[in-house]
Amino acid sequence: GTAQTNGTQTDGAQENGVIGGDEEKKGLKILIVGAGIGGLTAAIALRKQGHEVLIFEQSQFASELGAAVHLAPNANGILKRLGIHAEDFGSNPMEVLTEYTAEGTRTRHINLVQPNEIWQHTWLLAHRVHLHNALKKAATDPEGEGLFAKLSTSSRVVNVDPDNATVTLENGNTVQGDLILGADGVHSVTRKVVAGRDIKPYGSGKSAFRFLISREAAQEDPITAKFAQATGELSIWYGADRRLVVYPTTNNQLLNFVCIHPEAESEAGSDTWNRGASLEQMLKIYEGFDPAVVALISKADRESLKAWKLLDMEVMSSWVKGKLALLGDAAHPFTPHQGQGAGQAIEDAATLAVVFPGDVKKEEITARLELYQKIRMERAHQIQEYSRIAGSDLKEGVKNDMTQYTNYNFGHDEWDNS
Ligand code: FAD
Repeated sequence: GTAQTNGTQTDGAQENGVIGGDEEKKGLKILIVGAGIGGLTAAIALRKQGHEVLIFEQSQFASELGAAVHLAPNANGILKRLGIHAEDFGSNPMEVLTEYTAEGTRTRHINLVQPNEIWQHTWLLAHRVHLHNALKKAATDPEGEGLFAKLSTSSRVVNVDPDNATVTLENGNTVQGDLILGADGVHSVTRKVVAGRDIKPYGSGKSAFRFLISREAAQEDPITAKFAQATGELSIWYGADRRLVVYPTTNNQLLNFVCIHPEAESEAGSDTWNRGASLEQMLKIYEGFDPAVVALISKADRESLKAWKLLDMEVMSSWVKGKLALLGDAAHPFTPHQGQGAGQAIEDAATLAVVFPGDVKKEEITARLELYQKIRMERAHQIQEYSRIAGSDLKEGVKNDMTQYTNYNFGHDEWDNS
């Protein structure tokens, strides 16, 4: 089978989509499993190196999901070099950091002038759907500059063979390549092949309510207006074991909420991206917080309110097997407390393109994958650990400062300059 003919239709409503593609043959034939943030960035970067790239995505992208994601300087810098200018699709700079106690006492207020000597690129707050659309267009658009990849939607991968570099799709078709990249996210199927056993993510002990409200709605209410005055303001209210994070996205028109609380206190069990949640339950969990911020979260639209279980996973000892390598959440799923999930997937993708120039020889694939792992593993695992620390509960006299690790994460010289 080929990318054009395979793939099942999940609901029969839409043809199995093949978007993009071109005739030129150069470099390796690279099969990417998953067209999320990491898979699409890898496709763009590897295609620029001259490789032929086929991407297999299980969903139809009929209604791509997601709220806001951080594009910290490390990620924004890489995207810019790939020709993706996130300001063009409404990502706004993070300009101010304000912190409060749960009861509403302001403890910190920092103006973030940027780019500055630490951050060489702007720290942007993007909408995941807009970011995803821009990456998909850059990866697959035949009208775009340079080469483009072929994306097969409704093409769920059920197995991969790392020795022969073949991918097997749900409909039984197999596709042969030279190299496979497992970019299939937190519930990866390719991870098992690399590890030789099932490594499953587990609950980190925390869940998060996620929703967006219009900034205008917050401004109109005199009680909540003060939280929506400044542009680019990220505010955090810290309780001992729960917190509230709010920041604007989409040209400052939307406020994105991440309400992190003990997992046991909200409906248990869900680890999908699209599970609804109860507004009453959320308000109960934040009883005792500053009434003004409770008034703010009570504006959540019930339809759009989601509850996500925040997942963590054991650290893998290897991301590579034969001609298969993992990237992004498949290799290192992140808790969200450092806003680096997308950023680290983007760094993985950029590294793969550096390690695989267009004139690479097939015999070098295994050695170059080892090099990829050597470059990336320590840093990704370090940030994974920082994210755990930043998300841990406040203890008497100890402040888990979310900004404490940002120089390493966001402005790391080697990553900004490479
Ligand atoms: P992802 O971006 O999760 O992409 C993985 C992709 O692989 C998905 O498109 C998935 O459909 C596909 N896939 C999985 N299994 C298979 C298979 N067997 N065959 C073919 N394709 C497969 N993070 C936030 O911080 N905020 C958000 O609002 C947010 N919303 C999200 C919404 C969705 C629908 C998804 C999938 C992820 C979301 N994330 C969000 C997570 C965030 O995108 C990732 O944590 C981060 O960007 C790392 O990207 P990734 O490419 O590794 O994984």
